[in-house]
Amino acid sequence: MSRYFYDLHMHSCLSPCGDDDMTPANMAGMASLCGLQLAALTDHNTCGNCGAFLKACKAYGIVGVPGMELTTAEEIHLVCLFPTLEAAEAFEAEVRTMRLPIKNKPAVFGNQYYMDEEDKILGEEPNLLIPATRLDLEAGTALALRHGGAAFPAHIDRPSNGIIGILGALPEKPFFPTLELNDPDNRAQYVKDYGLENRRLLCSSDAHRLESMREASQWIELDDEPYSSQRVRDSLIALLREGMVESVDN
Ligand SMILES: [Zn+2]
Ligand SMILES: [Zn+2]
Repeated sequence: MSRYFYDLHMHSCLSPCGDDDMTPANMAGMASLCGLQLAALTDHNTCGNCGAFLKACKAYGIVGVPGMELTTAEEIHLVCLFPTLEAAEAFEAEVRTMRLPIKNKPAVFGNQYYMDEEDKILGEEPNLLIPATRLDLEAGTALALRHGGAAFPAHIDRPSNGIIGILGALPEKPFFPTLELNDPDNRAQYVKDYGLENRRLLCSSDAHRLESMREASQWIELDDEPYSSQRVRDSLIALLREGMVESVDN
């Protein structure tokens, strides 16, 4: 087992609210400066820049994880992570059919750039990525699991798009063994107020700008022997899936 300093929730320039500077290459470079060893790209309702992000991370010796921040029908933000790019892309292909076809207005909502790993713009996503999809919390969670991934509610300590802010409490089903806090200082309060003693609480930056990426401070222990970056990804996803698979019909 080894400790990995992580940030498992960040947005690239493909998210309309992500800065144009959040290219996969810049993000990987900044992740390296921040001392991260494990970094996930989780754009809103898309995995379109994950391929470039994984390559850029590899160049910096960081284990990249492909992911998505899914907006459920209830407007809850759910971080979905996958062991491989293929699994993430297969998940996205299904999510895409559940997105609402609203055109993006870049001047209002921001640009949505598809990038390669060397900062070249490959294209622009015409439809706005951030609105609620037609997948509800249960269906979205089941879909991520069916594609071999794991899912956990994002920034539960924020009123907007946080599961507690929207539902008032954590649902019994689907059961989420892992939850994300945005502010690590909220940990004790949330454990006490919501009885989270037996949950895994991860803290990630939800960075939309390079300057919001955080100095490494949060770590997770993963089985990585015999070492390969794929082994690290597999261990992460297996750990996050523990206790989830039994609770969701998929
Ligand atoms: Zn969010
Ligand atoms: Zn986010």
